[in-house]
Amino acid sequence: MSATGRVPFNDLARGTSAERREIDAAIGRVLDRGWYALGPENAALEEELAAEVGTSDAVLVASGTDALQLAMQALGAAPGTRVLTAANAGGYSSIAARQLGAVPVYADVDPETLLLTARTLASAWARMDVAPKIAVVTHLYGAAADMTEIMDWAERAGVLVIEDCAQALGARHAGAPVGSFGHAAALSFYPTKNLGALGDGGAVLSRDGEVARTVRSLRQYGWSPKYRVSIDGGRNSRMDEMQAAVVRTRLPRLETMNERRRDIHRRYERALDGHDTRLVNAAHPGFTAHLAVLETDDRDGAIGHLSAAGIATDVHYPVPDHRQPVAPAQSAALPVTERASERVLSIPLFPELTEAEIELIGDRIGELP
Ligand SMILES: *Cc1c(COP(=O)(O)O)cnc(C)c1O
Repeated sequence: MSATGRVPFNDLARGTSAERREIDAAIGRVLDRGWYALGPENAALEEELAAEVGTSDAVLVASGTDALQLAMQALGAAPGTRVLTAANAGGYSSIAARQLGAVPVYADVDPETLLLTARTLASAWARMDVAPKIAVVTHLYGAAADMTEIMDWAERAGVLVIEDCAQALGARHAGAPVGSFGHAAALSFYPTKNLGALGDGGAVLSRDGEVARTVRSLRQYGWSPKYRVSIDGGRNSRMDEMQAAVVRTRLPRLETMNERRRDIHRRYERALDGHDTRLVNAAHPGFTAHLAVLETDDRDGAIGHLSAAGIATDVHYPVPDHRQPVAPAQSAALPVTERASERVLSIPLFPELTEAEIELIGDRIGELP
C-alpha cells in the first residue's frame, strides 16, 4: 500500500525507481552519442523485437495507434476500405482506420474470452455489403485470440490480418508468439503497457519485407530514398532514441515481469474460486496478464466495495466503438460486446504491487458475490 493506504490502479514510479540506474545509463548513452531520432538504438531495438516475435522485420514508429494506421496503409487501406474489427478493444483500430478515410465495421466477440473468433468474424463478414480488405484482431487484456482459426478464415475470405499486440507482447497461441501470425502486427510502448517506454512509442512487425519497407518509408514522409517522396501518404512518425534505449533495457525482463503479473492474476483467481463474479482470463503461460478484468452483474456495487477499501478500479472499456459519439449509426447489434461493456471491471495488476496490496485486493474481491 502507498503511504495514504490506497492501492493505485497503476504506479509507474515504482518501476522506474527500481530500474533507475539502468535507465540513467541508457539515456546517458544516447546523450553521449548525440543522435536522437532513428539511430542505433532504434536499429538495435527493431532487431531485438523481430527476434522476440519471430517476424522478419520490426519498424519503430511514434505510437501504437500510428502502428495500426501505418500497417493498414501498407496493406492497402484507402478511403472507403472496410476494416473489420472488434468494438470492445478501446477504439484504437477505429481511430486508425478513420484517419485514412477507411470504414470500421464491427464483429461481435466470444462471450467467454471477449475476443474475436473465426466464427464471429465470419458472421459479421456475411452481413457486409462491401467486403473488408483488412481485419484487426486485438489480443485483448493480453490473451491470445485463436490465430490458427482466424488465419484460416482470413485466407478463405481474402482478408489481410493485423494483430493488435499492444497488450500482448509475450503472449502465445499454439506455442508461437502473437504478432507472428498476421500479415502485420502493431505494438505500443505507452508507459502502462507490459513493455513500456517513458513516453510514447510503437512498432509495426511483419513477416513480409515489402510491408515493412512501406512502413519504413511512410513513417518518414514517404521518403525512399532520403528527400525523395516516393510513396504518397507519408508523415513523421519516428520513435526517439531515448525511448528506444529505455525499452531496450526493459525487454530482457519482459518475461519475468509477465510471469509476476500472472502470479498476481492467479491469486485473484483463487480468491474468486466458486464465486459468480469471474475473471475473464485464467493465467496460463501464454497470457501476459496486462489487465485483471472481472465480469460482474453488479459493477457499481463492486466499484463501491473496492473503493471503500481504498482500491482503485477502471473499466476497459465503457463505450464500445459503435456507440461512440463520432460513430455513424450501425444497424447490426453487437449483443456480447454491449453486455460486456456494462459488466467488465479492471482491478490493479502491475508487477510492483506489494504483498500487502495483493492480499488486500484478494480479500476484498473474495467478498464479492
Ligand atoms: C494502448 C493500445 C493501443 C494504442 O497505443 P498508443 O501507443 O497509446 O497509441 C492500441 N491498441 C491497444 C489494444 C492498446 O491497448
